[in-house]
Amino acid sequence: MKKLAAGNWKMNGTKASLAEVEALLAAHPGPTCEMLLCPPATLISQMAALAADSALMVGAQDCHAKPQGAHTGDISVAMLKDAGASHVILGHSERRTDHGETDAQVRAKAEAVVDAGLVAIVCIGETESERDAGQTLAVIGSQIDGSIPMAATAANLVVAYEPVWAIGTGRTPTLAEIAEVHSFLRGRLRGLIGEEAEGVRILYGGSVKPSNATDIFAVPHVDGALVGGASLKAADFGAIVAALSAA
Ligand code: PEP
Repeated sequence: MKKLAAGNWKMNGTKASLAEVEALLAAHPGPTCEMLLCPPATLISQMAALAADSALMVGAQDCHAKPQGAHTGDISVAMLKDAGASHVILGHSERRTDHGETDAQVRAKAEAVVDAGLVAIVCIGETESERDAGQTLAVIGSQIDGSIPMAATAANLVVAYEPVWAIGTGRTPTLAEIAEVHSFLRGRLRGLIGEEAEGVRILYGGSVKPSNATDIFAVPHVDGALVGGASLKAADFGAIVAALSAA
C-alpha cells in the first residue's frame, strides 16, 4: 500500500497561491508516498496543468451526487474529472456542519465519484462532546457504515479519520487514541468490504504539522494524513510529505 499525503486548501487560494505548488514540486519531485492537493474548484484546472507529469495529484473538496441538471452553484464529478481532478473529499466535517450533509448524502456523492472512476476520500470523526461521552467508536462506526460507497475497494476509497475538535485547533488526540480509532476502523472496514479493507488507506486528519507528523505516521494503521492549514505552505506540506515518505 502506498501512503497518501493529502492537502485540503478549503476556501483558500487564488492564482498567486500556485507559486506554493511550484515550490512543492521543486523541493519534492519524487516522494515515495502519494501526494495530493485539493484546492478550491476554481484552481483545479490550473493546478492540474502545473502538476502534469509530476508526482502531484489534484483533487476536489466536494461534488454533487447527480451527473448534471438544475443545481445552481453545484459541480458534478464529470466536471471535476474534466478539470483534472482524480480524488474528491466527501463528508468533511465542515460540509456536515455548514451544509447539514448526512451520511446518506455523503454515500450518494461517493457512489457518483466511484462510478466516474475517481477516488472518494470519505471523512468521518466525532465531536468533542461525543468523545467526552465515550461515544467515539459508536459515532465513527455508524458514519463509516453509512457513508462509504457500496462498491468500495482499496483503489477507489480512502477514509479520513478527523476528530472535529482537532480540525484547525492545534489540538490532537493522543497517539494511543489515534491507534485505537484506526485499528477499530480497519476492523469495521473488514466487516464491510472483506479483504479489500487491508489496502484502504486510513488517513489521520486534524492539526497535522511538521512537528507532529513523524509521531503520528508511526501509529499502526495510519496510512497518511489529510492536512488543512499546513497544506497551504509548500515548506510545511513538503515536510509532512517527507515525514510520510520516511515512515
Ligand atoms: C482538515 O480540514 O481536513 C484539517 C485536517 O485541517 P487542519 O489540518 O488545519 O486541522
